Amino acid sequence: TLVSTNDLAWAEAQEGCPEGTLVVAEEQTGGKGRLGRSWHSPYGQGLFFSLVLRPLVNPQEVARVTMLAAVAIASAIDKVTGLNAGIKWPNDLLVDGKKVSGILAEMQGEQDRVNFLIMGVGINVNHELNDFPEELQPVATSLKLAGGRQVERVRLLQACLESFEQWYFLWLEQGFAPVLARWKELSVTLNRAVRASTLKKTWEGWAQDVDEDGALLLRLPNGELQRLATGEVSLRVK
Ligand code: ATP
Repeated sequence: TLVSTNDLAWAEAQEGCPEGTLVVAEEQTGGKGRLGRSWHSPYGQGLFFSLVLRPLVNPQEVARVTMLAAVAIASAIDKVTGLNAGIKWPNDLLVDGKKVSGILAEMQGEQDRVNFLIMGVGINVNHELNDFPEELQPVATSLKLAGGRQVERVRLLQACLESFEQWYFLWLEQGFAPVLARWKELSVTLNRAVRASTLKKTWEGWAQDVDEDGALLLRLPNGELQRLATGEVSLRVK
């Protein structure tokens, strides 16, 4: 039981652990989401892990690694369960329109260089509906709820790591284009009306594309193209 796998991975990274160091927990008491939100992580049912990465990239490229992780986890889920997970920009995984996995990247770096990157992943695996707190029940699902059968978590973890490793080295060797192409295929955000917000502002528009930095390109009703480097989208627009 850990407060957060990202926190332990961060401490290990600061002590100089090698790239690829993996932290896994049965339960998190303070599982973290983006923007200070929390990730519900009950004992024994989910998969909660963090990887320490040391890519030689600048901080602007970190969004690419999280998109890469979403692609990798979606294909691992498909491989182990046959379920098609869609990616909601930037990196939530949805099955049947409900959230099954979240990814949280945290970085330590300088202006031009990433020192290390912690890639945290939470997957709802064998949860029953009642295992989620009431407020999450309408928006969350598990692989078991969606696929109708129990999933072996160790096998899923192995598949996630294999898949991540393949995509990670593909990115380092061939650049971001193949990752982005796959991300777009798996996206449930593109080519539809969305509401998108940053910490400061909210827009409604047409999710037209993502650019090579992973930013969302939103076509506004007045015809302008708005670029969002970070933020969140809601698909619940008329
Ligand atoms: P969203 O866009 O779905 O609001 P986010 O991308 O801003 O989420 P994340 O870091 O992915 O944030 O996840 C945190 C949010 O996800 C929480 O605020 C909560 O609404 C929801 N959540 C928390 N735990 C779970 C879980 N186990 N399964 C599904 N959703 C969860």
